[in-house]
Parts: sequence; structure tokens; C-alpha cells
Amino acid sequence: MLAIGIDIGGTKIAGALVDEDGAILAETRVPSPASSATLIEDSVVAMVQQLAAGHEVAGVGVAAAGFIDAAQSTVYYAPNLSWRNEPFEAKLTARLGLPVVIENDANAAGWAEFRFGAGRLVSDMVVLTIGTGVGGAIVTGDALFRGGFGVGAEIGHMRVVPGGLPCGCGQRGCIEQYASGRALLRYANELADAGGIGQTLAERRAAAPLDGAVLSELIMAEDGGALAALRQLGGWIGQASASLGAILDPQIFVIGGGVAQSGELLLDPIRQAYIEHIPARGYHPVPEFTIAELVNDAGVVGAADLARISAERRLRGVRG
Ligand SMILES: [Zn+2]
Repeated sequence: MLAIGIDIGGTKIAGALVDEDGAILAETRVPSPASSATLIEDSVVAMVQQLAAGHEVAGVGVAAAGFIDAAQSTVYYAPNLSWRNEPFEAKLTARLGLPVVIENDANAAGWAEFRFGAGRLVSDMVVLTIGTGVGGAIVTGDALFRGGFGVGAEIGHMRVVPGGLPCGCGQRGCIEQYASGRALLRYANELADAGGIGQTLAERRAAAPLDGAVLSELIMAEDGGALAALRQLGGWIGQASASLGAILDPQIFVIGGGVAQSGELLLDPIRQAYIEHIPARGYHPVPEFTIAELVNDAGVVGAADLARISAERRLRGVRG
């Protein structure tokens, strides 16, 4: 059974026709008309019609950044788009004549990782995506965790430092301020200021401000300063994972985002910090820590799979 996945971002809209094994049969993308809800809707409708032509499609899954209600039909709030309480599911269903589910983009990508990537052999998984901010998804008992109102699993806004650094969410001390790509740059700049092992960082900074590309180059070259910054980052991720592990008890933590390309160099300090901070250390089962397998297209693949599963449930309900 085929389904269509759409991923609406701030700069582009991606769409794909996906089979039940998560394989993409056709895909397309267009620039995102982020400022207009009507234009976004028109783009998505055109994209679905193009992808569905000549195929039998079970449903459409739409992934978008923002708060989605528990019924997966209304987008309460999307930070990068002009949506406020947008009844997107009803509008799309009416225009497409196909069942539609709306899902938070991090949840959709996490679901793809669970079904077809690093989480495919477990029942409980936490994904931490280290980008400009910290995102993630939680799967518990083979199901995506959304919370009672649909807006749960905002892992990046777990408080790790009371009264700590201010966060874009209006609170202070969120893990996003300590374990994001931006935090990694801050650690690198602090090391450059201090001299010593930060010497190479300071030299590179003298030519141009440090950025992700320079840091990843220095990490791969195993520069002492860049590795120290990465260990600081890993320490925070590991500490936060220990708190999540105490509550959720996943068999696996999957680390995604650009910085995850540093692989074991990042996973090692994460594991160390996890073991150090888990309650009843030494007696608590230790989960696996690994790098995300699905880098591109996770959003569209996950959204399509969620739409397909939802359609299958509806069919079983009708028949049963
Ligand atoms: Zn926050």
C-alpha cells in the first residue's frame, strides 16, 4: 500500500510517494511560500496530485515544525510559517479526497528512524537531533509519544540548569542552550579565548568567525581544542539522556543532526556522561547509543508511513 509524505519546511516543501518498506518511488520539492497559508495549501495539493497520478494511494501524511493537536488535524502554531490554529487536515482532505494526517516534523522523522533506521529492532527509542537547536522524538511501546494534548516530546526544552541561559522558548536553562550546534560553537569560542588547547581554534578564528564547517573539519582532524568542545557537548547530551533514560527506559538513543557525523568521537562522551548520571548506576541497564541512519528524507518517509498506518487502522475498523 502506497502513501504520500509531505515535509513543509521554512524554505522548501518536499514530497514523496513511499511504499510500505519506506522506499521512495518518486519525489519532488518546491520553494516554500512560508508567508501565506493559502499558497502553502495550494503547493501541497498540487504536489500530492502530481505524486498520486496513476497510483492507488492510502493517505497523505504532512510533517511540519510546530504544535499539532492530539487529533492530528490542526496546527496550533508553526514558528516558521504563517499558521495559527490552522485546520489543515480538514482543508486538505476536502480538496484531495484522501485521508490526511498532520504530524510534527521531528516526530515524523523520528518515526522513520524507528521503522526503517536505527530503531527498527527495538520497542522504545529516543532520538536527539542536534542542529541549530535540539529536537527529538520519543517512541515508547512501539508507538510515537505525543502527549495528551499532542504537544509533548519537546526534548530541547527540558530544563537542565535552573536559572541558566535564556532560551528562545522564553524559559531559562533548557538543554537546547547546552547541547545544540550553537552551544558547540560557544564552547569552541571559549576554548579559543582561553588559549592552550584552543590555540588552533584561536588561529582559525583570527581569519574568520568559527562556524560548523570549520569545527567539523577540526574535529575530523582530531584537533585537541575542537575535541574538547565536542566532549563538552557530548557531556550535556549524555547527562540529559540519563534523565530521559530514568523516565522512559529506551533500549536505544539515536543521535542525529550535522554534528552526529563525528560518530564515535561524539558517542563516547555521551555514553560516559550517561553512565555517570543514571540513577542506581552500575545496576541500571545501559541502552545503546548510535548515530541516526536516515539522514535525508526522514520527514517525508515517516509522514507517509504514519498516513499508511492510520489508513490501515481505519480500514480494519470498517471491516471489523
Ligand atoms: Zn527552551
